[in-house]
Amino acid sequence: VNFNEIEEDDELKGDDQPQKPDLIEKERISIAEVRQSLPVYKFRSHFLEAMDKNQVLIVVGETGSGKTTQLPQYLYEAGYSQGDKNLIIGCTQPRRVAATSVATRVAQEMNVKLGKEVGYSVRFDDKSSKDTVIKYLTDGMLLREFLTDSKLLKYSVIMIDEAHERTLSTEILLSLLKDILTTRHDLKVIIASATINAEKFSNYFHQASILNIPGRRFPVKIHYTKNPEANYIQAAITTIFQIHLTQPLPGDILVFLTGQEEIESMEESLQESIIKLGSSLENHLQVLSIYSNLPIDLQKKIFEPTLPHTRKVILATNIAETSITIDGISYVIDPGYVKQNVYNPTQAMESLVVVPCSKASVDQRAGRAGRIGPGKCFRLFTKWSYYNELDANTTPEILRVNLSSVILLLLSLGINDLINFDFLDKPNSKHIIKSLELLYSLGCINSKGSLTKLGLKLSKFPLDPMLSKCLITSEKFNCVLEIITIISMLGESSTLFYRPKDKQEIASKKHASFDSPLGDHFSLLNVSQQWENSDFSNQWCQEYFVQYKTLRRVKNVRDQLIKLCQRNKINVNETISINPLYIQKSLISGYFPNIVKLSMMGDTYKKLKSSNVATPCYIHPSSSIFKIKPIPKLLLYHELVLTSKEYMRNCMIIDEKLIKEYGSHYYSPQELESLSKTKK
Ligand code: ADP
Ligand code: MG
Repeated sequence: VNFNEIEEDDELKGDDQPQKPDLIEKERISIAEVRQSLPVYKFRSHFLEAMDKNQVLIVVGETGSGKTTQLPQYLYEAGYSQGDKNLIIGCTQPRRVAATSVATRVAQEMNVKLGKEVGYSVRFDDKSSKDTVIKYLTDGMLLREFLTDSKLLKYSVIMIDEAHERTLSTEILLSLLKDILTTRHDLKVIIASATINAEKFSNYFHQASILNIPGRRFPVKIHYTKNPEANYIQAAITTIFQIHLTQPLPGDILVFLTGQEEIESMEESLQESIIKLGSSLENHLQVLSIYSNLPIDLQKKIFEPTLPHTRKVILATNIAETSITIDGISYVIDPGYVKQNVYNPTQAMESLVVVPCSKASVDQRAGRAGRIGPGKCFRLFTKWSYYNELDANTTPEILRVNLSSVILLLLSLGINDLINFDFLDKPNSKHIIKSLELLYSLGCINSKGSLTKLGLKLSKFPLDPMLSKCLITSEKFNCVLEIITIISMLGESSTLFYRPKDKQEIASKKHASFDSPLGDHFSLLNVSQQWENSDFSNQWCQEYFVQYKTLRRVKNVRDQLIKLCQRNKINVNETISINPLYIQKSLISGYFPNIVKLSMMGDTYKKLKSSNVATPCYIHPSSSIFKIKPIPKLLLYHELVLTSKEYMRNCMIIDEKLIKEYGSHYYSPQELESLSKTKK
């Protein structure tokens, strides 16, 4: 990798004199001392005073200054969780790993057992109890709490953390909180944000006070590649070794990647190179990773102090940008990409897309290298690209994603007038209309736009409304358990199988043994059922090259969904043998918008809904029907993943009759007629 010479203006300026980091010394510092060394500590009384005086307070501070871990503790120590009822201090996080990891840390700092005084609550995983006084939860979970406790009476303080991320749930929370604050005079709200866009939040909350916590930051030298990198993974690996071989210890490396799959494959390549280099490496290179599905015990590893003669290299998703702080990082490698959900209302298509980061985002990432001393950031893109191609800021989620889930939630909270709803940034009305159309076609709202009984039922599940619809329908066909299993598997399917380099062929064969001629939904069901037959054994997983930890996660989600069904009086009977047709019917009842037909040329698929621009879609190569002959002419897909092409991940073969039965309210007579005209 060729990096430019460092230029003067390419430095994130620091605001502190470098201190020599002394990791061994640091290990000995007690937790109390660490807490007192954080930048927020000096502002403790200032903060508590401001909390006393204001109902809403905006707190702005550099990442790592102690906002997330310390502020809730200060409030607890100051008695905010006491009073006549035992009230909770809640702190939201956009990401589940952040919520679980921070809760673990705070429990440790307070010397209590996780789940007692300090707990967390994320989708499908609740570690809180009646003793919990500080609760970290995802923004989506707090949003769902409005359904059962519309004034959030359990809480004395709510801290909306990472507000700068502008996630959809965070923004809706801000609007709902703004509303309940008018009647709940005793509730306090903190809005914490890493970057300086505090004005917007302050204006929204009637000029709320802003508390600034100056951070400590050392300068970071920025390096760019001379030419665009065709393969940023390879470039990142080369850069890791360049740093490791030329830069002194200590100084760990943080690499920003787009997702779990990318992280796992890079981890494998790195391990191979490390083995190859063997004893020629003077110092050890320890590879660790952090992404949202990583189990808690593995998350903890990245926070353990680096061993002597060792350099950690941490492969992380965007989570390490601001949500969690890892000490000891001196080098950041940034390919400059992030994975986002993007909804295109014209095509009524939502897909997962890897897109270039914004300038604000890559600058945040670079800043991660300057916490313990001066650092370096290696950007795997050109300087020209930084100045001419990157957007200044990331577009808030509310302006780019499918809103049907949130709208359903708002409707079930009795908020019907979406047009006049007090959004922080108003979503595009085209998006709102498309989402309402979808909810109408699912039967969640009537033609007047009000919530139906079915809509209310669907809103009880923390799932995409299309998935909840499948679940509700499956009761009619007595296949609730199968649909729950398929739903749980779909969410994890991308990290289910693995193929070791030396056993690729046998692994592929084993994987193919699950293939169902009906499609991926049924193949996934096969995997789960066979694993269950093996008594959930780890050995079975190894034999079939299936990730055990993924299946454990699937099982957990499945158990939670079963409980939710029972709570909502949905019958989850185990049945001996299920007619596959019933499963197909349940799935199409929610996924009828995702039907594609084979093009006339017979090489690509296009959406059946002809009002949508015909973007060609392809079956994802991982699909069990990727190579099936004859090429199926009608498919139902679960999701679109846009890489070089628009790929459909998890496809099921579907026939015309079912589409006519379940899609006649959605497709026009012409579209339904065109079904029989599809190439045979
Ligand atoms: P902020 O929210 O302002 O970005 P945090 O409160 O998250 O800051 O982090 C403050 C400090 O707490 C970090 O510098 C880090 O040393 C420590 N810390 C945070 N999370 C953990 C964890 N899970 N394990 C160990 N240390 C942690
Ligand atoms: Mg934080």
